Amino acid sequence: MAVHGIDLGTTNSAVARTGPDGRPQVLAGMSGAPTTPSVVLFASGTEHVVGEGARREARLDPEHVCALVKRRMGDAEWRFVAHGTGWSAPAVSSLILKSLVADAAFATGEAPTAAVITVPAWFGDEERRATVLAGTYAGLDVVDVLSEPIAAALAYGFARLDGSPEMSKSSSHPAPAHETVLVYDLGGGTFDATVIELADRRISVLAVEGDHQLGGADWDERIALHLARRFGEQNPSAEDPMDDAAGTQALVLAAERAKHALSESTSTEVVITHDGARATVTLTRAELESMTASLLRRTVDLTRSCLAEAARRGVPRVDRVLLVGGSSRMPAVADALRTELDLDAKLHDPDLAVARGAALYGEKKELERMVAADLRTRGRLRDGASLEDAAPADLDDAARRVADAYAVPLSQVRRAVEVRVDTVVSRGFGVLAVNSSAGRLEPTWLVHRNDRLPIRTSRSFGTVRADQEVIALTVVEQQGQAESSRAEDAKVLVAGEITGIPPGYDAGSEVHVSFEMGFDGVLHVTAFHVDAGLPLTLTVTTGATLSQAEVARERDRLGKQRRRE
Ligand code: AMP
Repeated sequence: MAVHGIDLGTTNSAVARTGPDGRPQVLAGMSGAPTTPSVVLFASGTEHVVGEGARREARLDPEHVCALVKRRMGDAEWRFVAHGTGWSAPAVSSLILKSLVADAAFATGEAPTAAVITVPAWFGDEERRATVLAGTYAGLDVVDVLSEPIAAALAYGFARLDGSPEMSKSSSHPAPAHETVLVYDLGGGTFDATVIELADRRISVLAVEGDHQLGGADWDERIALHLARRFGEQNPSAEDPMDDAAGTQALVLAAERAKHALSESTSTEVVITHDGARATVTLTRAELESMTASLLRRTVDLTRSCLAEAARRGVPRVDRVLLVGGSSRMPAVADALRTELDLDAKLHDPDLAVARGAALYGEKKELERMVAADLRTRGRLRDGASLEDAAPADLDDAARRVADAYAVPLSQVRRAVEVRVDTVVSRGFGVLAVNSSAGRLEPTWLVHRNDRLPIRTSRSFGTVRADQEVIALTVVEQQGQAESSRAEDAKVLVAGEITGIPPGYDAGSEVHVSFEMGFDGVLHVTAFHVDAGLPLTLTVTTGATLSQAEVARERDRLGKQRRRE
């Protein structure tokens, strides 16, 4: 019944849950590996393979192997076509999630039904919705989507209190009760920099920055291009390995292996065979670092602006830097943070911190839900009210009852209900409106990046003629680093119409539109006709929302897929 934590990563995924002692445990499937490559092989029209088997096959059957699907989340148009069927990004992701569910069931004997799924802090509303959808397709109740750096910070905060061996590895000093932490997360396909304040009972995100098209795969691509050039120099009459999909896949895999080797040693040899020819290329760490310097620089620049944003919010320095994500193992990362930003960075459980943190958060959500249910049945909490509205004595009694009933240590229940996780908006959003002086359509930004969540804001629109029944509404999200005043630079989240405005009202009658975003970063828009006192319907014509029927149809279709071991 436990809410599991799932790190649905760009290159690797993992599932965890908290054990009876409250510690987060990563659950491995039959292979025994703690992480599963986020790769799907569509073996036939009805069969698929997820994980290492699919990753191995990438070279032999590249057209049927889908990798890095997380980079496509939120792109409603994208499809991976295999055996004549198009797969959306949430559909492919749901197959990875189902594989993790099977692993968890193998490890514990109980298939998870509810989960917290992590997403990069930089994910906007549409990508978060796509993630929820993937979970729904996989048959999971997605209790929440949680930003990966918050998950990493939760795991760190827990290990710090717990005195776990992970912590002793990453720190030589006991951690103070109040710390400001920079999480530098460089994974396979995404980069996030986040400044988080860890206090006794509160974890607050102060600033986020990132790029979800930047990660280890970009390093692999640069190395692969270099290897292809060297291969060509040694074999001028052979075909370029990058000219076909299988040759490219083989080079990218060789590039990744070389990159891993160069995190340990300063030089490595790569053997490339293609088109009946062969080349041996010596690659040094210095060469690798020089051909990928611009990629690393971008992460440093984003980190710098994240620190600047935290400083603007009154936190001018960080106490600790946590390196998470597999690519932060490259020695150049810690070196650049030291030389460029004077930061002393340490690896912190780079592959599993996010899944562990998600499991801790899942447990918190589950215990909170039980405490709230206890209070409600006793009439100590109104429907719709949150735990923060409960009287402290009532909360303590309820925590005690839940601890007794479920044989969970009281300290664990108290920690779950007391620790608050505050986070911020990853991208600003607003509405498109006509700027009458400029005579063109422009975004009006209602909420700005790094504003604190949850957010509730509203805007009033007037009808322009009597008996107007419909108002068009376009909600847009910021795309780049800064808010732009050009409509073309914004991403349309919701393009729709507010319908059902009652007849009999003059021009200028007021329609009040509310925009709400909870801790999960998912936007909800509702509209209200002020004079009539009536809620109105928002009909979405494009945007990230699918109808219930569409979700059910897709889930049925996916249910017919068979997983091949
Ligand atoms: P993640 O998304 O956190 O699982 O990170 C996966 C990325 O980390 C992939 O691009 C890997 O190539 C990269 N990675 C894993 N181990 C290492 C290593 N030892 N050195 C360099 N990159 C690594």
